[in-house]
Amino acid sequence: MADFLKPYSDGVYEGRSRGKFQLYTKNAAPGNSVYGEKIMADDDGTEYRSWDPKRSKLGALYQKKLKIPIRSDSRVLYLGAASGTTVSHVSDILAEGGGVVYAVEFAERPMRDLVMLAEKRSNIIPIFSDASRPELYVPMAEPVDILFQDVAQANQAEIACKNAAYFLKDGGHLILSLKARSVDVAKNPKKVFTEEIKVLEKNADASFKILKTADLTPFHVDHMGVIAVKNS
Ligand code: SAM
Repeated sequence: MADFLKPYSDGVYEGRSRGKFQLYTKNAAPGNSVYGEKIMADDDGTEYRSWDPKRSKLGALYQKKLKIPIRSDSRVLYLGAASGTTVSHVSDILAEGGGVVYAVEFAERPMRDLVMLAEKRSNIIPIFSDASRPELYVPMAEPVDILFQDVAQANQAEIACKNAAYFLKDGGHLILSLKARSVDVAKNPKKVFTEEIKVLEKNADASFKILKTADLTPFHVDHMGVIAVKNS
C-alpha cells in the first residue's frame, strides 16, 4: 500500500488531501477516472481514487466512520446505480477480494454510462430493470451478502424488503439511504424516517434488525443512512 495511506476498512484507505481527512479506493481500472475524482499513484504506479462523500451516500457513511459490512469478497446487490459514481468505488473494493456487484438502474441515460463502466470493470453486472419488481431480474442475479439501496422513491423501505426477500442471504446486511423528501415533501423528515424504519422491522416479505442509523448531513441534507441485518 502507498505510504501516504492507511487501511480504513476492507478495500478502503484513508489519507489526507490539502490537510483534510480523505478516503480512497484502489483503482480497479487504472488510467480511468469515473466522475472527475482525483487520482494518486504510488511509486509502483498503483492508483488510488479519492471518494467524494458529497457525491456518494455510501461514501458519506464511510466518512462518518460507521462500521460498513462490505468486504472485498462480498456479493452485492446495488439498487439505484445511476451512472455508477458509487458503484465504481464498490467495484474497486470488491476487485481486491473477488467480489461482484449487481447494479440495477431503470433510467436509460445513466444506464448507458453504467454499461460503459462495466466494460472496463468485470466485477460490475449492470441490470436494466425496475428495482420495485425484483422478480424480473431473478435470472440475472444471485443470493447476496449485501443489499445497498439508493433509489430516492416514495416506498424506499418496501423496495428494500422486497429485494431482500428475493436476494439477501439470512444474516446478510442492508445498507439503505433514505431520502425524506422522496417519501413525503411536506412531512417532517424525522417522522418519515421513523415510519420507514418501522416498515423495515415489521415487513412481511423480509424484516430487519436495525444496527445503526446516521444523519448524512452535511454531505446530503434530509437523508438518513441505515445499516441493518436481515432476520432469518
Ligand atoms: N447511487 C447513485 C450513486 O451514488 O452514484 C446515485 C443514485 S440516484 C440518487 C437514484 C437513482 O435511482 C437514479 O438514477 C434513478 O433513476 C434510480 N431509480 C429510482 N427508482 C428506481 C427503480 N425503481 N428502479 C431502478 N432504479 C431506480
